[in-house]
Amino acid sequence: MSTDWLPVALVLRVQPTTTTRLVTVRCPICGRQHVHGWPYGLDTIGSRVPHCVGRNVPTGAPGSYFIPTPTENPTR
Ligand SMILES: [Zn+2]
Repeated sequence: MSTDWLPVALVLRVQPTTTTRLVTVRCPICGRQHVHGWPYGLDTIGSRVPHCVGRNVPTGAPGSYFIPTPTENPTR
């Protein structure tokens, strides 16, 4: 499946926790920050549904965005 058409979110930071990594991104759709879980054992993050979809987003906005794999990649 191609994700070339998806808007790309800017990764602001990656925080390791005991159970997962938390990735904070700048949303390309609403401009606010969203946090997504990035489980240990997954090499890439990929596309996610932003938390703003369904609220306060323009009609016709894409329903998901792509999160590029950050160079900062903490482990447990
Ligand atoms: Zn958003």
